[in-house]
Amino acid sequence: MAKIKKMIKSIKVDADKCNGCRSCEIICSSYHATPKYNSVNPARSRIQVIRDQMRNIWVPVFAGEYTPSECMGRESYIIDGKEYSECTFCRASCPARDRFKEPDSGLPLRCDMCEDQGPGEKPLCVQWCYNDVLIYEEREEEVEEDEAKLGNMETSLESLVDKFGLQKLVDTVVRMSQKD
Ligand code: SF4
Ligand code: SF4
Repeated sequence: MAKIKKMIKSIKVDADKCNGCRSCEIICSSYHATPKYNSVNPARSRIQVIRDQMRNIWVPVFAGEYTPSECMGRESYIIDGKEYSECTFCRASCPARDRFKEPDSGLPLRCDMCEDQGPGEKPLCVQWCYNDVLIYEEREEEVEEDEAKLGNMETSLESLVDKFGLQKLVDTVVRMSQKD
């Protein structure tokens, strides 16, 4: 099978520097609003800052894959004397909690690294974080052609759902499939 080069984007999180200002949540939710930049609702953000002011805990977490079932157990981690539940670091949109769900539709949210940002352009949450917590990196990797196409298709579908809503998208696909 043919291999092609694909740009892989990633963001490292230096959580020690985070002060919980939530600028990252604000810009992400505003960018993904319909119309774009028309409203701000951090519940729509693809990055969410886990906050526990009393214990001085601020952990920015990016929305990852959707999972239809929750885990069987709950581990905990002690890092620098602070105890964290396993769920703190989990990126999944899962049935056990409200995190990473679109507040109106309940659809899972996933970070798209700001889908139409060009190469070298930093994702918006990285640009808006003035404490250098979020460190953006790009690298090229060889992947199967089909795998790259599937990834692009998922991102395009997600942005169409963002733009028009799931129901409108489903109606359009049904209408198209009925044409000869
Ligand atoms: S913008 Fe940066 S410092 Fe502010 S909450 Fe987000 S990651 Fe933390
Ligand atoms: S990279 Fe873009 S889509 Fe992902 S959390 Fe940051 S602002 Fe949101």
